[in-house]
Amino acid sequence: MHYDVLVIGAGPGGCMAARELAERGFRVLLLEKGVLPRDKVCAGILTPGAKRLIEERFGGIPPECLDEPPVVRGAVLLCERGGDYMLPFGGEGLRIRRAALDAHLARRSGAEIWDGCEVLGFELGRFHVRVHLEMEGEERWVEATYLVGADGAEGLSSRLVRPEFHRLYAVPATERTMLVTTEGTASWDPEWMGLALLRRGLGLARFFCRGEEVGMAISFRGDRGWQGELEALENFLSQRISLRLSGSPARALASSNRMGSKGRFNLGAGCALLVGEAAGLLDAWGFGIRLALESGRVAAESIAESAGENVTPHLRYRYRMREILEREVSMLRRLSGVVGELDVSEIVASRSVRGKRDRRALRRRFVS
Ligand SMILES: Cc1cc2nc3c(=O)[nH]c(=O)nc-3n(C[C@H](O)[C@H](O)[C@H](O)COP(=O)(O)OP(=O)(O)OC[C@H]3O[C@@H](n4cnc5c(N)ncnc54)[C@H](O)[C@@H]3O)c2cc1C
Repeated sequence: MHYDVLVIGAGPGGCMAARELAERGFRVLLLEKGVLPRDKVCAGILTPGAKRLIEERFGGIPPECLDEPPVVRGAVLLCERGGDYMLPFGGEGLRIRRAALDAHLARRSGAEIWDGCEVLGFELGRFHVRVHLEMEGEERWVEATYLVGADGAEGLSSRLVRPEFHRLYAVPATERTMLVTTEGTASWDPEWMGLALLRRGLGLARFFCRGEEVGMAISFRGDRGWQGELEALENFLSQRISLRLSGSPARALASSNRMGSKGRFNLGAGCALLVGEAAGLLDAWGFGIRLALESGRVAAESIAESAGENVTPHLRYRYRMREILEREVSMLRRLSGVVGELDVSEIVASRSVRGKRDRRALRRRFVS
């Protein structure tokens, strides 16, 4: 069976690439190992930029994809050794149900979808891809001219397309996140998400409180270390926002590819383009949906523009992504104006000793 493009992964990056290509008349097959609607560990915040891209390319977001309360206005950053800062979005964000939203995007992509289908490996030629997969207990091969690797932080595309780059840069930058959700109460406005800059730990801890539900996400490297961080976050939040937990916690573990914080991205090679977290695209705060959508769109445009020419699309893709990558890297380094999609004016304007300390600590976390 021969397709124009095989897309691995029906997350936002894969669905956007599939839609852009299908709309231009390419024969696209979207391969997803989960059965749709599949779960994805996520805080469920759709930033205004991600919302705009979805509305532009997929139409309005249906109510069954929204969670309560649907509007998110930005984040509040609580610094353990310093102050609290409001970091508003430039517009309204949405609280979404990831499984429902991703399934909606896949349905609207216009591509043929094989879900419950795990890609086991692939072979790449100059204008030829052969993908080995397993579906309903059977192994088979499919072929195409181009490949889009949109299989996220834990996928195999990054490793197979540029093995040495993956080993040197993606593996050391892979961070684990434990998301714990439980019943509880806190003095918190549910229209804002929470970020905590703790003295110990890796990256920024994230939390949300809505109704009787509390969620806390802690990042760590290796297999150990999250229990201590989680306890530190719980103690900090119980003092700062009167957090009280009850009920039994549910845990979910996920990985993030943070190599972009060091200015390194794996955009693929030859006829195989990588998008979203497979490429190392995540913003400073750990939001990745907007960048997955943006890169999925640019990858599709690069393939469409290269088709028919005797050039593989990766050079065009790299060239077209340059501006987006420079923007993301410079936002990480300079901490002013808007970072990712959060307005950091309040922390930048703080002239106190505490404010300076918080800025320094935040900058260090961004590039760690
Ligand atoms: C705890 C946590 C909270 C987060 N919260 C937010 C948030 O609130 N807002 C936000 O913008 N970002 C958030 N992110 C980041 C965001 O989830 C990712 O950056 C985003 O989903 C990346 O999109 P993607 O399309 O690149 O990949 P993904 O959404 O990860 O999709 C990859 C898909 O590929 C499939 N796949 C993988 N391997 C194979 C294979 N071998 N064969 C077939 N299919 C395969 C997977 O099943 C998956 O469906 C969060 C991340 C974490 C860890």
